[in-house]
Amino acid sequence: MSTTDPATPRAPEAATTVDAVVVGAGFAGLYALHRLRGEGLSVRVVEAGSDVGGTWYWNRYPGARCDIESVFYSYSFDADLAREWEWSERYAAQPEILSYLQHVADRFDLRRDITLDTRVLSAHLDEPAGRWTVTTDAGEQLSATYLVLAVGLLSSTNLPQIEGRDDFGGPTYHTGAWPHEPVDFTGRRVGVIGTGSSGIQLIPLVAEQAAHLTVFQRTPNFSLPAKNGAPDAAKVTRLREDHAAIKEELRSSSYGILLEPPTQSALEVSEAEREAKYRERWDEGTLTGILQAYNDLVRNEESNDTAAEFVRQRIAEIVRDPQVAADLMPQGYAYGTKRPCLDTDYYATFNREDVTLVNLRRTPIERITRTGVVAGGVEHELDDLVYATGYDAMTGPLLGIDLRGRDGRTLREAWADGPRSYLGIGVSGFPNMFTLTGPGSPSALSNAVVSIEQHVEWVADLLAHLQERGTPLVEADDRAEKEWTEHVQLAGNATLYPRTDSWYMGANVPGKPRVFLPYIGGVGNYRARCDQVARDGYPGFVIG
Ligand code: NAP
Repeated sequence: MSTTDPATPRAPEAATTVDAVVVGAGFAGLYALHRLRGEGLSVRVVEAGSDVGGTWYWNRYPGARCDIESVFYSYSFDADLAREWEWSERYAAQPEILSYLQHVADRFDLRRDITLDTRVLSAHLDEPAGRWTVTTDAGEQLSATYLVLAVGLLSSTNLPQIEGRDDFGGPTYHTGAWPHEPVDFTGRRVGVIGTGSSGIQLIPLVAEQAAHLTVFQRTPNFSLPAKNGAPDAAKVTRLREDHAAIKEELRSSSYGILLEPPTQSALEVSEAEREAKYRERWDEGTLTGILQAYNDLVRNEESNDTAAEFVRQRIAEIVRDPQVAADLMPQGYAYGTKRPCLDTDYYATFNREDVTLVNLRRTPIERITRTGVVAGGVEHELDDLVYATGYDAMTGPLLGIDLRGRDGRTLREAWADGPRSYLGIGVSGFPNMFTLTGPGSPSALSNAVVSIEQHVEWVADLLAHLQERGTPLVEADDRAEKEWTEHVQLAGNATLYPRTDSWYMGANVPGKPRVFLPYIGGVGNYRARCDQVARDGYPGFVIG
């Protein structure tokens, strides 16, 4: 057995000792390093990529860009950083977001505590010592008081088990692990499996290059036009001049974005009024514009269907072939309960002669061959195959590490029936371990950067509190965890989300427990709850 086998950690004496190990150097890991350093802790960040950036390091597929306006999809913890950085687009593309994160790493002198090209294999609690022993694939061991998991929500790629998958003779790609060198599809017959946010961003650009593009669609998605362009000058000015106020507004909002909360039901207004509102929101080009047009769209099926129907009508207007348009129209699940998408020319791409849509509901994929994909008895010949098939979301990146807490219990065992946590941050039996934007927190249902900052700051304050109390130990209480986990499910069950097969429900990964993974109580409410817990001396956590 090798000395780096996660099951047999070497003696702690061989380990490098730090106060905190942070796993991941994306938005969350970078800020965690900065903030924990600020508390006087020694920190080591371990990152699998060859550079900082996390999601924005790996997702280099054509068209990859954020779908929350860049001026708000940025850190707010430092007003000067916010004032200095200039986004070139309303929704910046991946290279620019990666440059931003590289800039942050340099500006705050973060790189000296980041180990790149290194994956954390395991983290085992050394119970008597009250420390975590972290083992990396470079054979290094780190001994840390605190384990901060900043592994991201959507970083564990989902490659479907399709018969013959490995037989394909040409290059294959997954959007979340895109090559670093440019991929040229010119003159090639390309297949794309998957029509979620990644596929919807990628498909129009691949179509422009390829000789022929075949899109294999299992479930159509609702997508709105991004209306990308220059950043909104008024928002940029406000952000510069009124940074503190904007920061506060984002932090107390429902989704971590600036949006007037809706006050009316979609059924309270006339059809004409509703239509006009939806039209205005469609033209606005934001991810949540339509979903937040009325206050009951995520709770009431009849209300929701008015929004769904509005988007279906837009698809019918854009796509010329009525059968293709019908195939692209989402039916049978509520608008927004699969994450909505923002696109540039997605539906119009299907008007091209050189693009074929294969509706897998009518003609399912039977197998992949050396030369293509067979669906409904027809072989679609391909040179290249792109998987835009998503992720084992939220729990996948955490369970991908061999995490063992008290009595050697693994996180996989603790979460066999779905994730359990207190506030989406702490897990009973796993003291001094923190899951940044973990399951049970708003994370996936929010502007991730706003939620990341809230978690990092809350954890940093907690560690400062522990220092004041003269103890290094904190652990979620079993009962508080049970109550919070039930509350997360109750909140989810009051909406239409659980009725849909989505990654929010873990339904995209065979065998994954079906539970609602994020917390839908709202960013502002959730923050208030966390702040109250801190003010009250952290009830629900056992300290010391
Ligand atoms: P996704 O939303 O999970 O979409 C995966 C797609 O692959 C779905 O259309 C799915 O169909 C299809 N699929 C999966 N397995 C399949 C199979 N065996 N056969 C045929 N089709 C299959 O993944 P994603 O597009 O990568 O997006 C994941 C999340 O990442 C997004 O929801 C979003 O939160 C984030 N993201 C954000 C941006 C951005 O704009 N900022 C960009 C990309 C991703 P079914 O629906 O039928 O399962």
